[in-house]
Formats: sequence, C-alpha cells, structure tokens
Amino acid sequence: MSEIAKNLKSIIASIPNQTVLVAVSKTKPNASIMEAYNAGHRVFGENKAQELAAKAEVLPKDIQWHMIGHLQSNKVKYIAPFVSLIHGVDSLKLLVEINKRAAQNNRIIDCLLQIHIAQEQTKFGLNEQEALELIEKSADLKNVNLVGLMGMATNTSEETQIRAEFSGLNKMLARLQKTDPSLKIVSMGMSGDYQIAIEEGSSMVRVGSAIFGARNY
Ligand SMILES: *Cc1c(COP(=O)(O)O)cnc(C)c1O
Repeated sequence: MSEIAKNLKSIIASIPNQTVLVAVSKTKPNASIMEAYNAGHRVFGENKAQELAAKAEVLPKDIQWHMIGHLQSNKVKYIAPFVSLIHGVDSLKLLVEINKRAAQNNRIIDCLLQIHIAQEQTKFGLNEQEALELIEKSADLKNVNLVGLMGMATNTSEETQIRAEFSGLNKMLARLQKTDPSLKIVSMGMSGDYQIAIEEGSSMVRVGSAIFGARNY
C-alpha cells in the first residue's frame, strides 16, 4: 500500500462514518491524487480555481471537487461547470457571481459561508450578523444553495483556544439554522486540528498534509 493510501486509511479509521473527509490536494501532482483515488477516495479540495479546473479536466469524472480557499469573483467561471461545493463564500458579490455562472451551466451550486473564528486578522470570513444578512439576501438567488458554514481556527498550539473556536462555530450553525434550515454542514478541522474539530461537532474535515505529506510552496 502506498504512503498516501496508508495515511488515508488511518485518518478514515479515526473519524466518524458520517464525517466527510475532503482530501486537500493543492500543490500536489495528479499522480498523488490518483493514489488516493485508487485507494477509493473521491472527495478532493483545492484552493486555487485554475489549478482545480486543470486537475479536474484530466482526472476521473467521478471526483467531487471542493473549492476550499478564498475565491475571487472573476475566477468562478473556471469551476462553475462542475464544482461540487464552494467552502469560502464571504460576500454577496461572490454569491451573485456564483449564482450567475451556475445558471449559465444549468446548475445549482452548493456553498458554505466562511465565518471568521480565528484571532488572526488576516483570515477571511464573516461574523454572525454578516452571515445572517447574506442568508437573507441570498433568498432570491435560485442557482446557489447555502448548505452550511466553514471556519479555520487560530494557528496555535493552545488546544483550549482551538476548541472554543470550533465549538463557537458549531453553536453559530445551530442559531443560523433557525433562519435557514438548509444549513447543515459545518466544515472545520485541518491536519493539525481535525480531531478537536470532530469532538466539537465537525461534519466535514479538510485534510491535506496529513494525507499527502508536507507541501513545498
Ligand atoms: C490547505 C488548506 C487545508 C488543509 O491544510 P493541512 O494543514 O495541509 O491539512 C484546509 N483548509 C483550507 C482552507 C486550506 O487552504
């Protein structure tokens, strides 16, 4: 069994059955993705629209591609024909563009709202009030489907801090569900913190380096 297949197997064994594992393959070659694919995995995440589109074009068509990073409006067109979930929606402008491109492709695209839960200022994302406003304004957008929230915890070794941020995101989901019951997914947890995320109720983890090895940027 390849290293990638082994990593995948041990992560899958350590997470609940209903938790979706997004294998984050950004910067990794198609051969690495195929090792995971041949081990049975079908859900992959990328953070750059053009890299995602280039990989999707040549890799098997039954892969479900998730766009996990910050997405610029002018890049939506590259992924709109096939993307299965967009994790990083944090503005009405972006949502309107996704809606437009989805309509052109006769699709309804599932999206997650990115919520700012970390202490760092640099990370993208909405607060609860902004998320609520976006949910209300998106009611007219027939070709997008808001299905949940996504967040990234502070990059820290302090477990209590990370836990509190994940727990807060899960509680926010529960409150927002009262406005929009179609919000069901909470995408949280990466290689360093997915165990904590799962303990705090994550339904989708995005794991890259723990599967594919460290990235060289
Ligand atoms: C790169 C990335 C991940 C995966 O990171 P790892 O630490 O390699 O698991 C998860 N989520 C987002 C948004 C990312 O950009």
